Amino acid sequence: DIKVEKLNKYFGELHVLQDIDLEIFAGETFSIIGPSGTGKSVLLKHIVKLEHPDSGEIYIDGFPIFANNKKQSERDYRYSMVFQSSALFNSLTVGENVGLWLREKRICKEYKIKEIIKEKLDQVGLAGKENLRTSELSGGMKKRVAIARSLAMNPDLILYDEPTAELDPVTTDELANTILKLKETTKNTTVIVTHDLNFALYISDRIAMMHGGRIVEVGTPAEIKKSQNPIVKGFIYTTT
Ligand code: ATP
Ligand code: MG
Repeated sequence: DIKVEKLNKYFGELHVLQDIDLEIFAGETFSIIGPSGTGKSVLLKHIVKLEHPDSGEIYIDGFPIFANNKKQSERDYRYSMVFQSSALFNSLTVGENVGLWLREKRICKEYKIKEIIKEKLDQVGLAGKENLRTSELSGGMKKRVAIARSLAMNPDLILYDEPTAELDPVTTDELANTILKLKETTKNTTVIVTHDLNFALYISDRIAMMHGGRIVEVGTPAEIKKSQNPIVKGFIYTTT
């Protein structure tokens, strides 16, 4: 599991993360929702060590990731982030994008890499599409390729920053169903940052509501829906 303890982060005068306490259980789909500029992406970046906190700690399976004690912090956990932009290489085919990391790291033999590419594309609903040019894909397909590429790394933890940001409602529904299906097949811990409340309610085991650099509520979708917290209620009211 992931345990965030008393995490604080400043950018100059701006206190972006304020005493963040959070626990994300192994295997769960956990969403962080909240309005723009509340620190959701910054929090996500801390979990993958792209940002360093001013105080506090994050423990993965009980091991601190920021502690200076290398022995303790260099735990072998694999994570993979699906960025909002998808960040694919347009000059490569779908299959080449998915297999990029495996080929670079020379993780396994070429025939095995081909098998993995096939399997991962199948898991995201893109079976048989390996030879398509990435530049020919729709936004929703690009997102799926980005997910397949992340899955190819066989991560323990997969993170999504605003996965639905550029997608139309139909494509968003398809993506939601893909993520739900992946939960069954991969058993990954999944962390999703989004301001799409309906999407979060549909796919999450639990949801954290962030506001002004703080976590103001954590609960199951059912609990969030009937929350009496005025900030949560306001957010539900303005986004549905
Ligand atoms: P959105 O929903 O728009 O993506 P967010 O909740 O993800 O918003 P963050 O990107 O986490 O918001 O940013 C929180 C605040 O921290 C913002 O005011 C942002 O300008 C600021 N910020 C983020 N990264 C940096 C940085 N590297 N340097 C300075 N300020 C930053
Ligand atoms: Mg963000």
